[in-house]
Amino acid sequence: MSPSLKGGITPEFASHVCMNYCRAMCCRGALVLSLSEAEAGSFQERSDDLGATVVLTRRDGGGAWVRFSDHEGERCPMLDPKTFRCRIYKDRPQRCRDFPEKPTPGCPISGSVQVEHTR
Ligand code: SF4
Ligand code: SF4
Repeated sequence: MSPSLKGGITPEFASHVCMNYCRAMCCRGALVLSLSEAEAGSFQERSDDLGATVVLTRRDGGGAWVRFSDHEGERCPMLDPKTFRCRIYKDRPQRCRDFPEKPTPGCPISGSVQVEHTR
């Protein structure tokens, strides 16, 4: 779980905001996701299971990058573009679990901006 969720926000509500308020803004665009070696293997396996095409850029010393710009719609290949859900949510990489890792301007769940709690 992110170490910088705004006080009182549950992980479930944070997911709700990510999907329905931001439409998974952090899972698309000109961003890069960093994967450990084990995560890179798992990411590839899960993408094969889902029939998704993943382009991994190997890093010296292990692990890989996923450049969203290398993928259809400039989004993470694990993102469902209709629902904005992560298709591997329970097995998502550590980087995704930790995000936002610090108070982030513009992120309504990170503690820097007020958001109305709707459920
Ligand atoms: S900016 Fe914050 S609320 Fe929006 S998608 Fe990113 S982590 Fe979620
Ligand atoms: S793995 Fe899931 S949570 Fe992580 S960037 Fe991709 S869609 Fe978003």
